Amino acid sequence: MNPISHEIIFAQEIRDRIKKVVGDSPVSLHEPTFEGNEWRYLRECLDSGYVSSIGEFVNRFEEALAEFTGAKYAVAVVNGTEALHIALKLSGVRPGDEVLVPALTFVATANAVTYCGAIPHFVDSEELHLGIDAEKLRSYLASIASRQSDQTVNKETGRAIKAMVPMHTFGHPSNMDALLEVAEEFSITLVEDAAESIGSIYKSRHTGTFGLTAALSFNGNKTITSGGGGAILTSDETLAQRARHLTQTARLKHSWEFIHDDIGYNYRMPNLNAALGLAQLEQLPGKLKMKRKLFLAYKEVFAGMRGLKVFEEPEDTVSNYWLQTIILEEENEDLKNDVLKLTNESGITTRPAWMLISNLSPYERNPRMKLACSSSLSKRIINIPSSPNLVEKK
Ligand SMILES: *Cc1c(COP(=O)(O)O)cnc(C)c1O
Repeated sequence: MNPISHEIIFAQEIRDRIKKVVGDSPVSLHEPTFEGNEWRYLRECLDSGYVSSIGEFVNRFEEALAEFTGAKYAVAVVNGTEALHIALKLSGVRPGDEVLVPALTFVATANAVTYCGAIPHFVDSEELHLGIDAEKLRSYLASIASRQSDQTVNKETGRAIKAMVPMHTFGHPSNMDALLEVAEEFSITLVEDAAESIGSIYKSRHTGTFGLTAALSFNGNKTITSGGGGAILTSDETLAQRARHLTQTARLKHSWEFIHDDIGYNYRMPNLNAALGLAQLEQLPGKLKMKRKLFLAYKEVFAGMRGLKVFEEPEDTVSNYWLQTIILEEENEDLKNDVLKLTNESGITTRPAWMLISNLSPYERNPRMKLACSSSLSKRIINIPSSPNLVEKK
């Protein structure tokens, strides 16, 4: 068989099956849709004069987020990266600590650790959930770390391994029970990067409610958007108060004086963004339904195609299906670029998974375990068009 034609036939087959779902017009990977109270709330916001860091929409958005996720508290901030930064800081991550981070994630997961002065320590993922591999992590920690009083120390670097940051890849929940067990066994604090997983559930609990703290993102490409924005979730009242204080310049209540009792941050979400975010959150249940429908449509058209699988939420989880994912079989990893090239040239936006962040120049010297699965997944994952408006509403 001619190897070139085999590659092209495989890529064409994928393109044509995607087209059966999304039609023939050009489609983007993920775009926001505004079909609810967006205009009304934005107008109210402008009419009120409160467009910046004070205003009712921020409080309303926070309350609605807490209610939707089941976290006791949500603190709205300027973006998901800063939400994670403050979530880590409040969870006790200090300069010089190590923090376990999946290598297969968006770079912000590691950057937020770095902003705390801490060191990202890269760990492998598993293929069933696309999150941190708890079993591998357990045996890795048993071999490289030692328990000293109430903490786990990296024997090689002498640094405390303070926290781990599970990330729910493309919205698919990580294996939280297994990760919580490892965290407990080694006294490691769990902080969730739930930037991609609003609406995703693990064993009837919303992602972002398992860690001491968690971060959500409302960037324009996420499931719901506030333009730019993020939120810190926690069920610890003291931490929530601290988050609110620190992200608003640590200013003490006073009628006129400027008294700041800490080096705070100007990270509060502006009211304009919260107005947009609240309108979007109201539509989240509808969007989740559409995303599930889109997943089922892809599952159906790809059924029976050899050489790949459409990623499906594992047992005990409900994914928001933020980004629809196909995973090539190992023997087809060389075909990834052919598929990306042909689909994008045909107007169907597809994207590979991230390069492993452990290979990026700022992080190439950081500690890491063997990253066999992450490395393989990053060569085989292709995200395909995922906007909720790609399927008919019914
Ligand atoms: C989007 C995202 C973030 C950061 O969110 P921003 O709002 O863009 O700052 C962090 N982690 C992951 C995994 C993300 O996908």
